[in-house]
Amino acid sequence: MKKRIPVIVLAATGSVGQRFVQLLDGHPWFEVVGLTGSDRSIGRPYAEACNWILPDLLPAWAGAMTVLPTLPEAAEARIAFSALPADLARDLEPQFARAGLAVCSNASAFRNEPDVPILLPEVNAGQAGIVKYQRQVRGWGGCIVTNPNCTSTGLTVALKALQEAFGLRRALAVSMQALSGAGYPGVASLDILDNVIPNINGEEAKVESEPRKMLGEVKDDEFVPAEVIISAHTNRVAVSDGHLVCASVELGQPAGVEAAAQALRDYRGPEAAQDLPSAPQPVILLREEPDRPQPRLDRDTGKGMTTVVGRLRPDPIFHLKFVVLSHNTVRGAAGGSIYNAELLVKMGLAS
Ligand code: NAP
Repeated sequence: MKKRIPVIVLAATGSVGQRFVQLLDGHPWFEVVGLTGSDRSIGRPYAEACNWILPDLLPAWAGAMTVLPTLPEAAEARIAFSALPADLARDLEPQFARAGLAVCSNASAFRNEPDVPILLPEVNAGQAGIVKYQRQVRGWGGCIVTNPNCTSTGLTVALKALQEAFGLRRALAVSMQALSGAGYPGVASLDILDNVIPNINGEEAKVESEPRKMLGEVKDDEFVPAEVIISAHTNRVAVSDGHLVCASVELGQPAGVEAAAQALRDYRGPEAAQDLPSAPQPVILLREEPDRPQPRLDRDTGKGMTTVVGRLRPDPIFHLKFVVLSHNTVRGAAGGSIYNAELLVKMGLAS
């Protein structure tokens, strides 16, 4: 691709917005032409408006950009990466789709809509095709595609590999979720230091429903969710990045640890999702050590895009149990949206 596609990042100053800026720095297909923020930031240089919390240096081009209002006419872009809070996304993202942009959103606002896909390209790239139907029914030239909630992300990739090999009936998932998942500044230090918070508002319902949509099918422009039943417990822990999920699964047909390990190791995902700049390499890494994956040690595997699975073993109630780790602001948020945009471009769906 010679000329890069102009993109705008909506809500660029927060936890996910900063990841977008970091991951889009030097992206081979996309060039950032706008960064937006709230009234607090509009008109200020990005370097001043945002409290940069990533270890890499803030890219100079981004630091010098003036933060724009979140309006389609604010910059000439073809793709909008949205890190907007859900309540704002509900009103603002359609304005961009109506203006002809492909919106790749992290917000939950549209995930449950019947014409909006929740995409993990290595799981359900084919479901991106629903945007043609979305354009018809909504009468807009652009589109909205979403990525799942960051806890569903790694879990769904692992479940997909097992579903494809053995089928899937039920799953129990217990999360230990990083602080960056709560945004910036997020949870007060005195609430989380020396502590675990056994509730994340709205999260359990998302983990119980979003994987079913992604693991299901699209038939005649309608989502048919997978029949798997998921029970989720979600917890906030004092980790900076990387969501860990302990899962137990009942398969469609019983499988031993060796066969399941092979299925996880061999999983490649749909062809359309491979050979993209952000495609995870590998899709799944299966760790053999008894004490891995760990967030601090393993979250950056495959540049933060790989799903890391470990502790695969028999489960006395279901068939198998294992641990999944996924980088929540990379694979679970900004990196995931960028991967979705690459898929749309490859499939000729990015307006
Ligand atoms: P955050 O750190 O709290 O950042 C919120 C952002 O929203 C800031 O950039 C803020 O801009 C902007 N904003 C607030 N009001 C605005 C307005 N009126 N117009 C434009 N921008 C406005 O939140 P986050 O963690 O980045 O989350 C962003 C979205 O991604 C949420 O929908 C969240 O649920 C979703 N998500 C997050 C994660 C994660 O791991 N963090 C994962 C998946 C999905 P100012 O700084 O200028 O006020």
